[in-house]
Amino acid sequence: MDDLSRFCCQNSECPDHGQRGAGNLTVCDHYGPNNGRRMLRCRTCKSRFSERKGTIFFGATLPEEQIASVMEHIGEGCGVRKTSRLVGVHRDTVTRYSMLAGEHAKDLHDELVAFSPRDTRGPV
Ligand SMILES: [Zn+2]
Repeated sequence: MDDLSRFCCQNSECPDHGQRGAGNLTVCDHYGPNNGRRMLRCRTCKSRFSERKGTIFFGATLPEEQIASVMEHIGEGCGVRKTSRLVGVHRDTVTRYSMLAGEHAKDLHDELVAFSPRDTRGPV
């Protein structure tokens, strides 16, 4: 039995959208290299989506290990150029994945944090 408790419906119209461990998801198919990626189906809204949708790996061309390595370096405070040299990817690639991860982090923040103080420094 697949553990799907960390996934949630990606259909923003669905009443179970964003609810983890609600028991509404099933694995309906496999795809990708060695059929190693799962297609999930929501029982509530009947939509199907990749388990990678909503992650920085969705539609990514870079191997997962390299993406994870980029994130590790950025997370540890390495700059874009340093990360680019250490991981062996173009610096635009580092920027692209960092932006994606930043958007996801913001979405998560907005979902989980009840109150977020205003940043008086204005938009960056
Ligand atoms: Zn749904």
